Amino acid sequence: MKVVKFGGSSLASASQLEKVVNIIKEDRQRKFVVVSAPGKRTHDDIKVTDLLIAYYEATLNHQPTTDLIQQITQRYQEIADAFHIAPAIMTAIKENIQSLQELPLSDNPHLSDTFLASGENNNAKLVAGILEAKGLSALYINPKELGLLVSDEPGNARILQASYDEIYKWRNEEAILVIPGFFGYTQEGNVCTFSRGGSDITGSIVAAGMKVDLYENFTDVDGIYVSHPGYVHQPETIKELTYREMRELAYAGFSVFHDEALMPSYRAKIPVVIKNTNNPQHPGTLITTQRDISKQPVVGIASDQGFASIYISKYLMNREIGFVRRILQVFEELSLSYEHMPSGIDDVSIILRERQLTKESEEELMRRLAFELDPDELRITHNLSMIMVVGEGMRQRIGVTAESTSALARKHVNLEMINQGSSEVSIMFGIQEAQEEKAIRALYYTFFD
Ligand code: ASP
Repeated sequence: MKVVKFGGSSLASASQLEKVVNIIKEDRQRKFVVVSAPGKRTHDDIKVTDLLIAYYEATLNHQPTTDLIQQITQRYQEIADAFHIAPAIMTAIKENIQSLQELPLSDNPHLSDTFLASGENNNAKLVAGILEAKGLSALYINPKELGLLVSDEPGNARILQASYDEIYKWRNEEAILVIPGFFGYTQEGNVCTFSRGGSDITGSIVAAGMKVDLYENFTDVDGIYVSHPGYVHQPETIKELTYREMRELAYAGFSVFHDEALMPSYRAKIPVVIKNTNNPQHPGTLITTQRDISKQPVVGIASDQGFASIYISKYLMNREIGFVRRILQVFEELSLSYEHMPSGIDDVSIILRERQLTKESEEELMRRLAFELDPDELRITHNLSMIMVVGEGMRQRIGVTAESTSALARKHVNLEMINQGSSEVSIMFGIQEAQEEKAIRALYYTFFD
């Protein structure tokens, strides 16, 4: 059995829905369908979720909502018109959208989530109706009925363990189940969404709960590229990678698959495949627990910007007990988190996301560090980019670091920092943001072309 999840662009128009129906029809193992809300039809279109945010804000500020309701409803209507679905479905969708503005506005921490979740909820009703109209037996199911329970953290919910057994109870349902992505219910019965893009998480949870053999995640690209297509012309797609490799790539900005969606299927040992609705014959990218690492030591090269590095050096630092604890204590007291901490004998660097700092908090941080540590040298470097060369194979192959640094040196990329985590799944290079593109291209042509 398989879970198939379709992203917003796969469900944006009637012609996209035709492709979705064919994909589901083609394989009887595709028993559980998870859907996003309708996404963008063209580059400058607006996602239904974003229209719902505007509708929520207008409602909250007592501004006119008629146009927004019309726009949102029209998105579903357009698709419904192309498929002769039972009229009651569109009536229910319209009523639901209209009634959102009647929800209590004050003391309602779940209001925004209820607006947003309606995007996927109504779409699941529509997709089930379309499958029925196409002669398949399909059933819309609400996450409450399914038993998808989440923590009470509006806009950022997490799955509760009890959900998995509840979901499993639906495994032998005859009909194809159509499940809205992106949200669940708290134990008190309130709607809570995951973070943005969270329908991938629902897909993963349903895959784990139903104990399926494969989770197919349909999107609008052929798979995960080995490198950023903005920097490298038509990069290859990765054929297969492990969960750990995916995690590292996702951390450094590869956003095809939601970061938090990996965990449920990983724990349940269910492989995930990323596929293209517009090119379903392409094998896509398979994410598994293990792969043959001898063939391809490096699977991808990713990068992310917006880091700062604080360099602290003090002679005989290694003999000063509690030195690092004092650094981290300052970070904790200023509510700052750090990302990496490469260290030498007499020095240590702390890499953090720059967006956490304001001019004032940076001054405070530097002042406190100087006071607590009395260092020989203390400085901060801004505008850093972290480049990650990712691959489990580098554990066994000597020279990946050497090849990377020579490639970067040949292109005159100045390395501010090198860091290799103990798991040896990736090597990270800290460089100036301005050199990012040059660095990515140099590494790509070293390992892939
Ligand atoms: N519709 C939601 C969003 O735009 C969730 C999703 O598409 O996965 O964030």
